[in-house]
Amino acid sequence: MRLSNGRPYLAIPGPSVMPDAVLQAMHRPAPNIYEGALPEMVHGMVPDLKYVAQTSGDVAIYITNGHGMWEAVLANTVAPGQKVLVPASGRFGYGWADCAQAMGIEVQLIDHDRHSAIDPERVRAALEADKAHEIKAVLAVHVDTSTSVRSDVAALRAVLDDLGHPALLMADCIASLACDEFRMDDWGVDVMITASQKGLMTPPGLGFAFFNARAAEQRRGMTQVSRYWDWTNRANPAQFYQFFNGTAPTHHLYGLRAALDMIRDEGIEAVWARHAALAGAIWTAVEHWGEQGPLTLNIRDRALRSHAVTSMRLGAPHGERLRQWCAEEMGVTLGLGIGMSDPGDPNGTGFFRFGHMGHVNGHMILGLLGVVETGLAALDVVHQPGGVSAAAAYLATV
Ligand SMILES: *Cc1c(COP(=O)(O)O)cnc(C)c1O
Repeated sequence: MRLSNGRPYLAIPGPSVMPDAVLQAMHRPAPNIYEGALPEMVHGMVPDLKYVAQTSGDVAIYITNGHGMWEAVLANTVAPGQKVLVPASGRFGYGWADCAQAMGIEVQLIDHDRHSAIDPERVRAALEADKAHEIKAVLAVHVDTSTSVRSDVAALRAVLDDLGHPALLMADCIASLACDEFRMDDWGVDVMITASQKGLMTPPGLGFAFFNARAAEQRRGMTQVSRYWDWTNRANPAQFYQFFNGTAPTHHLYGLRAALDMIRDEGIEAVWARHAALAGAIWTAVEHWGEQGPLTLNIRDRALRSHAVTSMRLGAPHGERLRQWCAEEMGVTLGLGIGMSDPGDPNGTGFFRFGHMGHVNGHMILGLLGVVETGLAALDVVHQPGGVSAAAAYLATV
């Protein structure tokens, strides 16, 4: 029997669930973009964004998505013909490398398999061999949303410092910010990018570049930076329109203000702890189901798993069947597997993901797990029943 009417639940790794407070904040007439409440609100958001990133550096806000942010920060720091090192731990690492290449930047890629975090020792070896310091930046994805692995960004800083290598350390925190613990200044990250539609709980369309004094200095050494991507005026605008190099994304900003209020009220440490507890419930259930049958978590080591997204394999075609069943019968949309198989590979339908980033709580995650366990049973996929009970028992202890 079809039970999908009611409030739909998009459990994919971005766009994430939007809080009612965010939706309501956006439902208003167009504001004056030249003076008054809107400019004041934007100036007031800057310290809150830095709080979420745990930095005292600068922030530039763009009207773009995550792909735009890859390009934005490279445009400010690495010229065509110069070189970057990309230790890729999944599809998004390759995406950033591809973006750099298309800008005429030389890419040195360190390929990992689809189940491992970035290996700092392989990064060390590559940097050690770069005696002439041709590598201008190391591009690291904190949580790769395809594999759901979380890499140790602070360990990369330790390697750079050990070797005295001047390359900038850049982190893609598009999936992880305001979900997984991230401390930009303490971890020595020079440039960090994120976007509005994941942990920040706001519709897709805003991108953010955080950068420190070292990165600002590298920017000053560039002979040419395109006007739109240039972060200089955006971070320190003399006039309000320079924040966005044009018209402000008015309604996104109201939504973001509401989301930042929620994060401030909860406290960033509590936000991280909530994501950790809910991720623990998910792993407990999935590990339990997988005691029989084909279901496996992509990342074996709990310490390397993201708290924002979980990538799993059920075997073709069951991943796709389960996704369809959950959407059609129960109103829950699960994430597609991406980057886990080559395009056209029939095994591709064996993968799926849960997004659990941002505005999620205990009842949503237990509901999600209940729907998935029901789906496994309805579709006759072999599994160990009782995953939801195991998750409930786990949550009773956290
Ligand atoms: C979602 C995501 C991106 C891409 O963001 P878009 O807004 O889809 O362009 C890049 N990197 C990571 C880690 C992501 O999770």
